[in-house]
Amino acid sequence: EIRTPLIMNRSLWERSGHWDHYRENMYFTRIDDVDYAVKPMNCPGAILVYRTRLHSYRDLPLRLCEMGLVHRHELSGVLHGLMRVRAFTQDDAHIFMLPSQIRDEVTGVIEMVDRFYSVFGFRYKVELSTRPENSMGSDEDWETATAALADALAGRGLSYQVNEGDGAFYGPKIDFHLEDCLGRTWQCGTVQLDFQMPEKFDLTYIGEDGHRHRPVMVHRVIFGSIERFIAILTEHFAGAFPTWLAPEQVRVFPITDRQAAYAQGVLSSLETAGIRATADLRNEKITYKIREAQRAHVPYMLVTGEREMSAGTVAVRHRGRGDLGAVPLAEFMSEIAREIAEKKRDESV
Ligand SMILES: [Zn+2]
Repeated sequence: EIRTPLIMNRSLWERSGHWDHYRENMYFTRIDDVDYAVKPMNCPGAILVYRTRLHSYRDLPLRLCEMGLVHRHELSGVLHGLMRVRAFTQDDAHIFMLPSQIRDEVTGVIEMVDRFYSVFGFRYKVELSTRPENSMGSDEDWETATAALADALAGRGLSYQVNEGDGAFYGPKIDFHLEDCLGRTWQCGTVQLDFQMPEKFDLTYIGEDGHRHRPVMVHRVIFGSIERFIAILTEHFAGAFPTWLAPEQVRVFPITDRQAAYAQGVLSSLETAGIRATADLRNEKITYKIREAQRAHVPYMLVTGEREMSAGTVAVRHRGRGDLGAVPLAEFMSEIAREIAEKKRDESV
């Protein structure tokens, strides 16, 4: 994992092609009479890291990941909550490889996308985007790159749609469009093959023959923008996150002040076990407090009355399954720990 600067020199952006092909989306500043740009993408940073040392074919593939904060200028009319913002964090990676490794590396990314999206229960559609008008490189490079991506998709048996002319300016790409519970789709993950940047930045590795060769570069994100992914997740679950994801997993309620200390003991046991819990100790009616917790989509509510206190139990209420009866605290804790560990989805909401 690497971390590269937010602000980089104009000459770097000219070399990467962003200056000619992406300028309208970038922010600029002047420092000591020199032009700088705030990074709209993490690629040039990763390239500089690659260039810090000599690479042998034995070192490749080299996978550099960066949770990179990028800024892109968007017209204010198209900004929309967390869905479209001007600054966001990408779960970015740049993979430098031998031409013979393209298929395996792209396949690896496709498998990773599948694994990550499945955890949340998302279905997704795949699109292959080809050469746009405003782009760099030869037709031959574009054809080779596009064929390599199609080949990796075919190898995984994935069906996909072709988007003519929708590739990045430096190479063709595979896009993954998530389908949320309302049937809307969101473009999140991408894998972009790139023969151009290695050329522009004169990247090399020493081959088996002892000579210098040009590596191929892959740009990939899985979630895309972390902020946007959280927005999509929130809408997908309509706020009712599965227990393992819920910011508050359990809320504890004493019925009267007399059980407040017991409720706090329950809370600290939960917290010690790493469960995200709170206790509602306000002097309000229990029905009112439960209604509030329901509205906040807290998965589990534990009511601790006189009877539970003397028996060392908790009365469990689930936001979707309702009243589940009283169980010993230890039993509730091992159940919820298993639910969290298995990243179970909540079918009841
Ligand atoms: Zn990149």
